[in-house]
Amino acid sequence: MAQAVDVSSIFGENVFNDAVMKARLPKDVYKSFRKTVDESAHLDPAIADVMANAMKDWAIEKGATHYCHWFQPMTGLTAEKHDSFISPTRDGKIVMEFSGKELVQGEPDASSFPSGGLRATFEARGYTAWDCTSPVFIKEDGENTTLFIPCAFCSYTGETLDKKTPLLRSMDALDKQAMRVLRALGNTTSNHVVATLGAEQEYFLVDKDFYDARLDLMLTGRTLFGAPAPRGQEMDDHYFGSLNHRVATFMSELNVELWKLGVSSKTQHNEVSPAQYEMAPVFATVNVATDHNQLTMQVMQKLAEHHGFACLLHEKPFAGVNGSGKHNNWAISTDDGINLLNPGSTPHDNMSFLIFLCAVIKAVDKYAKILRASVATAGNEHRLGANEAPPAIISVFLGEQLGDIFEQLALGAANSSKEGGTLELGVSTLPDLPKDSTDRNRTSPFAFTGNRFEFRMAGSSQSTAGPNIVLNTIVADALCDIADELEGAKDIPATVQKILSEIANNHKRVVFNGDNYSGDWLDEAQKRGLPNMPNSADCFESYLEEISLNVFEKHGVLNRSEVKARVEILLESYSMILGIEAKTALKMVKTQILPAILKYSSELANTVANIKAAGADATAQKEMLDEFCGLVSDVREKTQKLESLTQEAIAIEDAKKRADAYKLSVLPAMDELRAKVDAIEVICSYDYWPLPTYSEMLFVK
Ligand code: ADP
Ligand code: MG
Repeated sequence: MAQAVDVSSIFGENVFNDAVMKARLPKDVYKSFRKTVDESAHLDPAIADVMANAMKDWAIEKGATHYCHWFQPMTGLTAEKHDSFISPTRDGKIVMEFSGKELVQGEPDASSFPSGGLRATFEARGYTAWDCTSPVFIKEDGENTTLFIPCAFCSYTGETLDKKTPLLRSMDALDKQAMRVLRALGNTTSNHVVATLGAEQEYFLVDKDFYDARLDLMLTGRTLFGAPAPRGQEMDDHYFGSLNHRVATFMSELNVELWKLGVSSKTQHNEVSPAQYEMAPVFATVNVATDHNQLTMQVMQKLAEHHGFACLLHEKPFAGVNGSGKHNNWAISTDDGINLLNPGSTPHDNMSFLIFLCAVIKAVDKYAKILRASVATAGNEHRLGANEAPPAIISVFLGEQLGDIFEQLALGAANSSKEGGTLELGVSTLPDLPKDSTDRNRTSPFAFTGNRFEFRMAGSSQSTAGPNIVLNTIVADALCDIADELEGAKDIPATVQKILSEIANNHKRVVFNGDNYSGDWLDEAQKRGLPNMPNSADCFESYLEEISLNVFEKHGVLNRSEVKARVEILLESYSMILGIEAKTALKMVKTQILPAILKYSSELANTVANIKAAGADATAQKEMLDEFCGLVSDVREKTQKLESLTQEAIAIEDAKKRADAYKLSVLPAMDELRAKVDAIEVICSYDYWPLPTYSEMLFVK
C-alpha cells in the first residue's frame, strides 16, 4: 500500500508564498509588497531588507544554507549560482546573513552565456534583478538545499540577455492595451489584465541502462539510428492506457515533488507513442507558469533516475512514432477574475468577448511568421509537418459555433449562436451529457478550446517564454489598433460592429476548421497566401523583417539590437545542434557500428569458407554475405559523405548560410547514413548489434 499523502499540507511547503509572507512579515511590509505585485508598482527599497531577512530565516528553518539568483539565459534553460548565507565574524565564527541588496540584485559573470554579440567576452558584467511576481522557493538537490530567487538577467548596458525580461515586458504591453480596450468598452472595475498559461508537458521515459548505452540519446536527446520496432503505435493501445507500475510510481513522486514547489500538477496519462506520457498543471500567469514549466522539466529528469529511467524531453526522440510537444493553453483575464476569452452562452452578443477573440485572430494572421518562428527549433523541425503535429502553416480553428459567428460578422453583424444541445447515450442508467457547442480539432496549430486558445506547435523541450512573448506582443498590438479606434468613437456599439466586421473580412483567410494534416490544405493555404515555413533558419530571419522589428519595438518588448542579437543566437545554436548530431552520428558509426558489422561480416565469411571446405553447398550463406557486405560498403560511403559535408558546413562564415548548409546538406546526409545503418541493423545478428534497439527502448518498462 502506498503511503497516504496529505496533499493540502505539502502543497507549496517549499514556497515563500502569500500565506508564509502574511505570517512572517510585518503588516506594512506585507502590504507594500502586495501593492508592488498587484499594481505593478516599483518595489520600495526600504522593505527589501526586511523581506530578505524573513526569507533567510524561513529558508534556514527548512535546511537551506545557500541562496541563488535563478535566471533564464538565452540557452532556453535556467542558470543558478549559489552563495551561502555565511558571513565571517571577528571571533572566527560566522553569522547567517542575507541583505535586501543581495535579494534584489545579483552580478553574475555573464561572459559565457549567449549574447548574440550584445556583449564582448571581455565585457563580462551582467546583472540579475529579482522578479517579485514569481514566488521565491526552496529546492533540494541531493544534500544541498537552496533558496531560489527568480530573476531577470541583463547586460551591463541594460540590454536583455534572457527570456524572462521580454516576457515580463510583453505582459505589461498586453495589460496596457487590453485595459485601454476594456475602459473604452465601459469596464470600470478591472485594473489589470494578465495572460494565463497552462503548459501540457509531453515526455518519454526509457530505461536508464539503454539510455547510457546510446551516445546519441546522451549527447543529442534523440536517436540518430534505429530501425523501427516491429510494433509501433499502430494498435492505439498506449494512449490513455492503464499506467505501468514503475511509471505510475514515478508519476506519483513527480506530483509530490512538484506540489511541494507549488506547481499544481493536475493531469497525467499515457500518450500516443509507447513510452510517451504527459503531465499538465492547472494554469497560472504566463510568468509563473513559465518558471513552473522549467522546474517541471528539471524535476522530471531528476526523478526519472530514481526509478531507473531517463526522461527524454526532445521533440522527436524516436523516428516513426509520435514526437512530443508542449501545448500552450493561453488566455487573458482581468484581476477581478473575468476570462476575456470566455464566450458565455450567447457569444454573438458578447461584445467584449468578440473584440478579444477578433484581436487574437487578427494578431495571429498579421504576425503568423513570428508566431511560427517562436516555435522553430532544430528539434521541433522533426515534428512540425509530420503526422502527429500540426503542419508548419499557422491557421486558427474556431469550431462550428464561433466559425458561424465569425462568418456572420464578415457579412455585417452576428445575430445568433448555434447551440450545443444534449447527447443522449440511449442507455437508461447513463446520464444525458450536455454537448459542447464545438467539437475538438486535434490537427489545428492554434485552436479555440472553449475559453482559451491552445497553441499546439510548441516543442516539448522549449521554454514557454518564447511563444508567449510573441503571443502577448502581437495581441497587444491588435488591441492597440482597436483601442485607437474606440477611444475616439462617439457610438461605441457601432464602432465595435465595424471593427469586428473589418477583422472578419480581412483575416478570415487564417481561419480553418478542416484537417490540417491533409495535402489539400497545403494547396488551399498557399492559395490563401498563408506562409508555410518548414525551415527554422527562414523562420528566424522573419524576426528581422520590418513588420516584426516594429511590433517588438513599438510595445517596448525588444529593441532592434535585442532582436538582432536573438536571431544571431538562434541561428548559431541551430547550427551547433546539427553539428553535434552529425559528429555524434560519425562517432557512433566509426567506433561502434562499423566495428560491429565488420565482425559479423567476418563471421559470415568464415561460415561460407567452413561450409565450402566441408564440401557442402554454401550458396545461401554466400548470398547473405554479399548482401551484408554491400550494405557495409554503403554505410562506409555515406559516412564519408556526411563527414565531408559536415566539414564544409563548419567552414561557412555567414550564420544563415551555415544553418542552411546544415539543414539542406548535412541533415539529408545524416538521414541517408541512417537509412543504410537501419537496413543493416535488421539483418545483423542481435548478438553483434552494439546498440539497444527500438523494441527495447520503447517496450521495456
Ligand atoms: P487537453 O484535453 O487539451 O489535453 P489538459 O487537461 O491536458 O487538456 O490541459 C488543458 C490545460 O489548459 C491545463 O493546463 C489547464 O489548466 C489549461 N487551461 C484551462 N483554462 C485556461 C485558461 N483560462 N488559461 C490558460 N490555460 C488554461
Ligand atoms: Mg492534455
